[in-house]
Amino acid sequence: MLAEAVLAGAEKLRRPGDQSGRLYPSNVSLCPRRTYLTWIGDREPPSQEALLRMNDGHYQEEEMIDDLERAGFEIVDQQRRVTIGPSVEHPEVPLSRQQMTGRIDGKILVNEEWCILDCKAMSSRRISEFREQGFQSEPSIKVQMQLYLHSAEIRKEGITKAIVYAKNKDNCRPFDRTIIYSEVFASALVKSFVDIIEGWKPPAERTSLCLTCPYTLKCWGAHSIDFSGVKVISLPEVVAKWKRAKFHQVLSKELMDEVRPLLVAELGDRKAITVDDLKILRVSSHRGEMDKILFVKKYGAAALTSIWTEKDVEQIRITEV
Ligand code: SF4
Repeated sequence: MLAEAVLAGAEKLRRPGDQSGRLYPSNVSLCPRRTYLTWIGDREPPSQEALLRMNDGHYQEEEMIDDLERAGFEIVDQQRRVTIGPSVEHPEVPLSRQQMTGRIDGKILVNEEWCILDCKAMSSRRISEFREQGFQSEPSIKVQMQLYLHSAEIRKEGITKAIVYAKNKDNCRPFDRTIIYSEVFASALVKSFVDIIEGWKPPAERTSLCLTCPYTLKCWGAHSIDFSGVKVISLPEVVAKWKRAKFHQVLSKELMDEVRPLLVAELGDRKAITVDDLKILRVSSHRGEMDKILFVKKYGAAALTSIWTEKDVEQIRITEV
């Protein structure tokens, strides 16, 4: 009863021209055809659920800004409007036709450098893909950030980085990634949307972007799944060995979890004991580590970024399908 009323009430959130027939940094795509279809407004209007989701996103983003400020970061220019397009470089081109505007979430000072800040609340699945694949799993955020960084106003301020600060909606666990401005990438995007505005109708091209695109039915006549990046082969003996190894791995962990507490209890305060033909030794090693809580108390949370280094680590994950 309440749910139905709330869904109906979401209509009040609908703005004229919502996401259709207009281009913003957030709806320009790496696929020029998708940008074109958005430009001509050839898309179903957002559902009531989607309207609620978008509204919820605004609240979550405000909270994320609060979290960052509580940690000691300086954030300015919240919701500042920036202009993107070739007209800034070529003043003779009419502004209204070839420019788009967008609003940045703000600018944040990190290690004495101002960066564009973008806050995104994400589902668990989405944030874990973002952790593992970086901007490969979030091409539209990459496009949006590159367009903001390409804005002449932003470039004039010498800003070359955007930080995407993400939060897991289920458990509030935060995560962030930095993206560096690429003039080549951003100029190509601007050229493609200007060509579209000037009448280019890009053809459909099957890429991995089609997998999550709302226009698959329009372009391909069906919801398509692109398996071009997946190699399918058969190695039954190898697979059987892997499954055996996995079984023993699980079994050995269960057995260890069962017997270890019993042996540790027998050891008590002693340095060593023998149990039949097993030897149980207390081994202590000396390690140093930084106490993050103490550091933050002494220097503030924002100072953590000045000593924090990150690197991408590639892992191979094997799972049963
Ligand atoms: S379905 Fe594929 S080709 Fe068509 S607009 Fe979407 S991403 Fe582009």
